[in-house]
Amino acid sequence: MERSTIVRVLDGLHARPATRFVKLAKSYTSDIEILRDGKAVSAKSSVKLMLMGIKEHDSLILRAVGDDAEQALSVLIAYLENPRAGLEDETSALAVQSALAVASPDSDPATAAQLPFADVAVTGIPASEGFAVGSVFAYFPDQITVSDRTIAAEDIPAEIAKLKSAVLGVQTRMQATLADAGISPADSGIIGALSEIVGDEVMCDEMIAMIKQGRDAVSAAKLTADATGLAFSRMDDVYFNTRADDVFAVGRLICLALLGKQDTGLQNVPAGAIVIAEDIGAFDLARAPLKRIKGIVCARGGATSHIAIIARAHGIPAVLGVGEAIENLRHASELALDGSKGLLFGQPSEAARQFYASKIHGAEQERSGLQRFKDYHHRRVDGTAIEVAANIGSLEEIEAAQDAGAMGVGLFRTELLFMRQKILPSEDVQFESYWKLAQAFAPNPVIIRTLDVGGDKPVAGIQFPPEENPFLGWRGIRMCLDRPDIFKIQIRALLRASISGNIKVMLPMVSDIDELRRTRALIAQCAEELDIERKPYTIFELGVMIETPAAVFIAPELAQEAAFFSIGTNDLTQYVMAADRLNSAIAHLNDASNPAVMRAITMVAKAGCDAGIMVGMCGEAAGRVDLIPEFVKMGLTEFSMSSSLILRAKKCLSEIVG
Ligand code: PEP
Ligand code: MG
Repeated sequence: MERSTIVRVLDGLHARPATRFVKLAKSYTSDIEILRDGKAVSAKSSVKLMLMGIKEHDSLILRAVGDDAEQALSVLIAYLENPRAGLEDETSALAVQSALAVASPDSDPATAAQLPFADVAVTGIPASEGFAVGSVFAYFPDQITVSDRTIAAEDIPAEIAKLKSAVLGVQTRMQATLADAGISPADSGIIGALSEIVGDEVMCDEMIAMIKQGRDAVSAAKLTADATGLAFSRMDDVYFNTRADDVFAVGRLICLALLGKQDTGLQNVPAGAIVIAEDIGAFDLARAPLKRIKGIVCARGGATSHIAIIARAHGIPAVLGVGEAIENLRHASELALDGSKGLLFGQPSEAARQFYASKIHGAEQERSGLQRFKDYHHRRVDGTAIEVAANIGSLEEIEAAQDAGAMGVGLFRTELLFMRQKILPSEDVQFESYWKLAQAFAPNPVIIRTLDVGGDKPVAGIQFPPEENPFLGWRGIRMCLDRPDIFKIQIRALLRASISGNIKVMLPMVSDIDELRRTRALIAQCAEELDIERKPYTIFELGVMIETPAAVFIAPELAQEAAFFSIGTNDLTQYVMAADRLNSAIAHLNDASNPAVMRAITMVAKAGCDAGIMVGMCGEAAGRVDLIPEFVKMGLTEFSMSSSLILRAKKCLSEIVG
């Protein structure tokens, strides 16, 4: 029996909707297939279904054979035709998506030179902030290799039985872990996603088919998982790209079970140790005695990997992506680690140990003392609210921002969405991120910054010309206006997400009022297109970042046309002072408290206040407690900063405005 339908699920069968759909399909005994463009896959395989990349408005045929075929088709079709299918339970999807987190781009570049000791630093990617000093626990499990040997025909049934029992064993272990009352919601989301993949019958059938062709079970499991993982990594969807890591991890777990081994080493981590590894599987790390682990260092991985997410969720400082330096580090007996700057010191000197010990102590003391300011709401004597918001670059940082008491988001750096995958994110992928961000902070505002990339921050899919001075070059709004094909996709996603009611948008690197006007024209064009397509949208408030001297000088004119200002002191300081923000040799000039920069900020504040628009700040200076009182006097009413600075800023504000 067959029935055709058009998918109405908002944004298609991604993530949660796909998983839910498969669960529904599995509740029927009939064989059920989905057909699109002549290609059929089992409706009971989440892996295959996700790889199909089914989008909203796709035409599909559902085919079912079996006793409950009719009922199954009606229920599944109703599901596919429900726009909100699978979206009701966002929490676990978010937990799994936390795999996409990125490091705070606010961390200073690793500048070991400024430290009060002479140890030589190894640098890596700052993936989870905090400091640690501890003994090294080297975790280098065996590599799994694919064998060329062919097994004899009579051994095939036994090999298949071995595979099945290994899969079952992994599944059982995962279920036991999930049933453990102590597991955190984020870890349970990640392990839940892995266990879906282990239980995928179609993937298992592919392994069995390989064994029937003469492959041994280990090779069949590894080859199948590697091929499936690769297919996920090539999809145009951040969520599915992350599933690649899950599939590789599952392949490894099955292989280890077949070999009678386990990556159990982590169970033996002594209290207070820093784990050093080539890479750590999410499942292994989530089950490890995390309370005993004081730090994590890996050769591979970046701020977007599962390890980084788990580390951040558990407050474990981590430095990832250190590459070949891991070889030396693994042989050190002790290590000092700065997860905020991505610095590592093998065999630290007494001076380095003491430096970090006092940092750790200071951080603990400060954290507990500041908690009472978390829910403070500040008002000036005239009743105007002063907002303290967070600068974030990914959805996974939402929790930390909320924990710190952020009242909204003052800067969402969208470029990280573009930089972490191999292709440009589609309108739907962007829409989903902006929508979730807005939902998380509603009704408080979230200010989303349009793409701010340039020659120094390349993005796959955008060809940047070689430039002598990338910081003065084709970047931010300049690049976007030259590439409406890219910019309009972002604007459309923002317009659609703005029906949430709390999204504001701002433009980076504005230096000419025409840039604001041309953007408005593009917004109007996108709105017209959405009208024709009958897609709901809302026109958002459009503000500008003040981060070029040109914008400072034309602030009075800009204030007539912009809905708000947000002062980006990181760039403003480097451009006012003509001092590269990444060059530590001139760090003394790169200081927002320099009178030249402070005067520029005063001019901007006056222009904004005179025009009656909100003036906020989202550069690092917004979190400087030595400057906040000055900024409040100038008339700034919004301060947005890295989450780790929020409590300190709230305390400072409570002292000056109450
Ligand atoms: C700034 O320049 O102050 C700013 C907030 O933007 P970014 O640091 O992302 O350049
Ligand atoms: Mg900037």
